[in-house]
Amino acid sequence: MGYLDIKGRVWHIVQSGDIEGAIAELVSLSQRQPTDAADALTLAGELARQLNIAPSTPKPGPAQLVFEGDRSQAERFFRSALEVSSDHSRALYGLASVLPERSRERVDFLRRASEKRPTYLGLLDLGDAQRSVAKDFAAAYQAYRAANQLNPREKGAYMKLADLCRRMDRPDEAAEWSAAWKARREAGKPKLQKGALQVEVDSDGWTRCPACNRRFSVRSSRVFVDGRHRCGQQLAMKPDSA
Ligand SMILES: [Zn+2]
Repeated sequence: MGYLDIKGRVWHIVQSGDIEGAIAELVSLSQRQPTDAADALTLAGELARQLNIAPSTPKPGPAQLVFEGDRSQAERFFRSALEVSSDHSRALYGLASVLPERSRERVDFLRRASEKRPTYLGLLDLGDAQRSVAKDFAAAYQAYRAANQLNPREKGAYMKLADLCRRMDRPDEAAEWSAAWKARREAGKPKLQKGALQVEVDSDGWTRCPACNRRFSVRSSRVFVDGRHRCGQQLAMKPDSA
């Protein structure tokens, strides 16, 4: 049936606020339909985790026990999902998210999750865990490099690579990563022109700034003030446009 179909099937129960009811339905589904068991148990784990991070922070006392209980319930569901399907990436990420940050097991699940379905934030998490928990700097370096390749526009991986290279006594490479981020940032800056640039404005008041290439409404006083776009470029509307 697939994860999203299963989610669709219990979503009305979740929306009604009965998360425990939705979890019970998912557990029942996992028993009736073995082929959907891994997806259903993973979603049950995600809902149990949601109970755990409910907006009201529990006060110490009996409520705290419930709070801790939900975390281990989520962990049980993710583990059950992985018993059915050992490389289910959502279950791998889910389990990593509820294990203690200093646990060696978490490093392993983050690694397996990233191998199966790499994500930028997952790879940064993996790098951090390899560095500070497993003390495996080479593996941390690899994870940060992969994150940087996946999303070279984000600052985080450059900074972590620079920091790790300093820690590994590779100051030249550390400086290279810092410089690489600086170059990226500069390249992303709008090229402001002297004087006003002419722009056409559509009938709804929208235009595109030629300096930063962003679309915006000239009627929004937050982004267009005194004839200047927020990026700093001065703009003039063509006489025949709105
Ligand atoms: Zn602009």
